[in-house]
Amino acid sequence: MTGDDRPVTEDNPQLRIAVAAFASRPRVLVAVDFDGTLAPFVIDPLQARAVPGALEVLRAAAALSGVTVAVVSGRDLATLEMLTGIGVQDGITLVGSHGAQTNLGDQGDQGQEGDRGGRGSLTRGASLLDAEATASLSVVRGELDAIRTRYPAARLEQKPAAVALHTRGLDPSVAAAATAAALEVGQRYPHVHVMPGKDVVELTVLEPDKGRVVRALARAAGSDATLYLGDDVTDEKAFAALDPASGDLTVKVGDGETLAAQRVPDQISVVHLLNLFVAHRQNPDNSQT
Ligand SMILES: [Mg+2]
Repeated sequence: MTGDDRPVTEDNPQLRIAVAAFASRPRVLVAVDFDGTLAPFVIDPLQARAVPGALEVLRAAAALSGVTVAVVSGRDLATLEMLTGIGVQDGITLVGSHGAQTNLGDQGDQGQEGDRGGRGSLTRGASLLDAEATASLSVVRGELDAIRTRYPAARLEQKPAAVALHTRGLDPSVAAAATAAALEVGQRYPHVHVMPGKDVVELTVLEPDKGRVVRALARAAGSDATLYLGDDVTDEKAFAALDPASGDLTVKVGDGETLAAQRVPDQISVVHLLNLFVAHRQNPDNSQT
């Protein structure tokens, strides 16, 4: 961050035009990553918080007619809810665990929209796993159970598509040994993905695929175009799934190679961009300046 308060779009007319064009579509989906996109990285992942104005502008966008807003993260849904403070009343869809969990089921309206397609695969608690993934999950559960037998103070957490081994509070040498054993399991099975955290190793059988998530959200919302903002490798699948030629707007946050059509430098500029979107949407004629 430069300390420069100027909206990033001020010296990026192409991005300004793209935001205006996107905002003019009748029904739009605004989907954003959390870590690195809304929230700066911090050493303790549970201390990560969105930058000032980020949650406010998401709520403002979600209140607009024809706008669906989603936060798409690899974080567990409960953690995502805790970090953002976003609840059902905000009208914002939270997608956690790379698409395995959402808060959609909380809204109690599945019956009305159950025939839209895609939505059923994003309901809280519903399984997204195919037979192969289900078998992998069973194997991983057995392996981690064996580790827990060796290190009885460790705790297992069963999730819809993952098992997490928690080592918080263990003697450091025991925690290190249990963690190493869990990481080794993750490396041994090609269809198992490792998500290390603070005092936890999570082994998931659901391939991180934000492209699948974004397509399902767009179908469920019945949107004409999608804006996706993300900073990381997993966000590239979302960029790849979208098509700027047909009105989608893809924006990479920060440096690095990307498939996204546009780029902003940091989280503050994400807030600027979203505020510009809201301004265009509220008043298409007067927001050019
Ligand atoms: Mg990120």
